[in-house]
Amino acid sequence: MAKTYKIAVIPGDGIGKEVTPWAQKALEKAAEGVADFEYEQFDLGAERYLRDGSILPEEEEERIKANDAILLGAVGDPRIKAGILERGLLLKLRFDLDQYVNLRPSKLYKGVTSPLANPGDIDFVVVREGTEGLYCGAGGAVRRGTPNEVATEVSINTAYGVERVVRYAFKLAMKRRKHVTLVHKKNVLVNAGDMWQRIVDRVAEEYPEVTHDYLHIDATTIFLVSNPSRFDVILTDNLFGDIITDEAGAVVGGVGYSASGCINASDEYPSMFEPIHGSAPDIAGQNKANPTAAILSAAMLLEHLGFDDAAKKIHAAVEADIEELGSTVRTTDQVGKDILARI
Ligand code: ATP
Repeated sequence: MAKTYKIAVIPGDGIGKEVTPWAQKALEKAAEGVADFEYEQFDLGAERYLRDGSILPEEEEERIKANDAILLGAVGDPRIKAGILERGLLLKLRFDLDQYVNLRPSKLYKGVTSPLANPGDIDFVVVREGTEGLYCGAGGAVRRGTPNEVATEVSINTAYGVERVVRYAFKLAMKRRKHVTLVHKKNVLVNAGDMWQRIVDRVAEEYPEVTHDYLHIDATTIFLVSNPSRFDVILTDNLFGDIITDEAGAVVGGVGYSASGCINASDEYPSMFEPIHGSAPDIAGQNKANPTAAILSAAMLLEHLGFDDAAKKIHAAVEADIEELGSTVRTTDQVGKDILARI
């Protein structure tokens, strides 16, 4: 009998609510016969916050933790000050659930127009460290608001935190084209950069089949537009990863076709999968949103749970759908049905 997995579903706001049901349907159809899913819905996001002021009540977070994985739609609303939901909900989950790998695949599908004149084959994945670096809140301010104000943001890099994400990247490379590129700025950030490089070199010895190289972050931004085919697995820290994943999303044609995962690879807590786009208030409620990225997030969830063949079914269906119908205007439901029919 197929094992049943518990999935926490946070549809969120705007188009998140419209695309997430298609991710669930794709999950079920692709995994038919190999896994079953039981869902627990969570009403979190901007609408909930505006209604009763809650962002992530402790009791609900505990229930989220008891699931095997999380599907997230999108959260956000222009009426809410930037940072409240990002810090109180998304970053809080990322830190509390120790989701130390931020995984962002970038693939240029046939039928999608890249802004690059000669994009070539683009198929790489960014493995971004998600819990350390400049984003873990180490720092402070003194004499705030005065002419003598001092503000610090400290980049935290631990050997433990770096090694676990390096290991994830090499393991992932074994399932792909077996090449890891470390991206940093080790000529200037000599302390952290040197530690990252030494850990990469050490872990690489355990993966003789995987080749690896190094690029500075500034050179990477150039190669991402001049020769994106050179990349397979890009491994980088929290800040650099934040920046290059946006650039990576742009070269493969924008937000419609990209998903991401916040992963706790030790499986101590559930990992979270989501489309990279936001709640898109401009088109919400109009059955216009493209559910493809949400459906791809379901494929990432399946890969994470070890169902690679089921995930491949989704990838193949999405690829065929985009190639044949990518340029036709369709409703959310039509795209969902078309992809589902191919799974
Ligand atoms: P956030 O800060 O939450 O990322 P944002 O406004 O910067 O929000 P999105 O909500 O992703 O970004 O919207 C950016 C633009 O892309 C909007 O014009 C939106 O309509 C469009 N868009 C986003 N997602 C989709 C989708 N799935 N299908 C069609 N259009 C989309």
